[in-house]
Amino acid sequence: MKKYKVTLIPGDGIGPELVEIVKNVVKHTGVEIDWEEVEAGEVALEKYGNVLPDEVLNSIKRNKVGLKGPITTPIGSGFRSVNVALRQELNLYACVRPCKLYKGVKTKYENVDLIIIRENTEDLYAGVEFKPFSEEAKYIIGKSQGKISKDAAISIKPISTTATKRIAEFAFKYAINNNRKKITAVTKANIMKYTDGLFFEVCREVAKNYPQVEYEEKLVDNMAMQLVQKPETYDVLLLPNLYGDIISDLCAGLIGGLGVAPGANFGDEYALFEAVHGSAPKYKGLHKVNPTALLLSAKMMLEYLAEKQAAEKLEKAISEVIKEVKVVTYDLGGSAKNIEMAEEIIKKMV
Ligand code: NAD
Repeated sequence: MKKYKVTLIPGDGIGPELVEIVKNVVKHTGVEIDWEEVEAGEVALEKYGNVLPDEVLNSIKRNKVGLKGPITTPIGSGFRSVNVALRQELNLYACVRPCKLYKGVKTKYENVDLIIIRENTEDLYAGVEFKPFSEEAKYIIGKSQGKISKDAAISIKPISTTATKRIAEFAFKYAINNNRKKITAVTKANIMKYTDGLFFEVCREVAKNYPQVEYEEKLVDNMAMQLVQKPETYDVLLLPNLYGDIISDLCAGLIGGLGVAPGANFGDEYALFEAVHGSAPKYKGLHKVNPTALLLSAKMMLEYLAEKQAAEKLEKAISEVIKEVKVVTYDLGGSAKNIEMAEEIIKKMV
């Protein structure tokens, strides 16, 4: 039987406990994985003096596939996000976040089955920022013809034809391969005419090559409202980086919260699977948080490894446990620990 080598980044906060669960549950799908564990984030900073040691990138480059627990990003000063750095360093330009409502989850909705495709490399996440009164900030303020206050900090929002074309092509191919019918591109192009305007323009051009997929455009504020009112009208959402981040959490809210929202980051060479949620530090070590999001991310990884049957078996077991609402975590209306929920999922697979 084929054995896969996969890079595993446990992360911090609730990451390590969830990663242990995933290792155990995936083993029971019958797929053999040799996990190569590497450290990034605060743990790596303490041990190696670097939040993203070369070994992390080298390991993913060697194995081509990785699974990652969440990593804390301090707000304000301190290091920039390791999560963002990983996506940029490995050119993981496409973030895919399915938002599917499973029976048993208490929500206001009956039918939600969305795919969010988020551009991962540019936009306000490019990390080009200038402090107030820095030379660069002063220069830009000087060019603004009095539109920007003299004491402003500045963030740059790059949106390029190259990166937009790449993500749009990815989205249309994804839609076709996954039997999806419609792509809705989302920006605020009425206000950001050049950057978001370019995003729409390029997506519109790419759409012409894929007439079998319906294409439409929505402004992000209107989109947020429509998703809350009638999420069943949408199929695949295609967004630049920042709107993609925010709309991902909104859509997670439609299907029961961050505990059930999985994700994956794809480039042309590598893939890194991770939940939408962060490290939820207040829950660290309590075994309270839902393992579903990371387990469904592992299910996406199995699909990527072409282990379709194992992926289906895992998703079916997870959905049965959620539907029964007996052995589920607090966020799904239960009181089980995540280890207990995982054991129940394993029982359904054997
Ligand atoms: P968070 O996603 O960590 O947690 C927000 C809340 O969501 C939690 O308090 C909890 O109520 C709920 N939640 C999260 N995961 C859950 C789960 N598995 N089951 C049940 N409920 C769950 O967001 P935050 O508190 O804003 O961020 C904490 C840290 O994580 C920050 O440093 C942030 O930068 C980082 N972060 C990392 C990633 C990543 O590693 N990709 C993603 C998002 C945030």
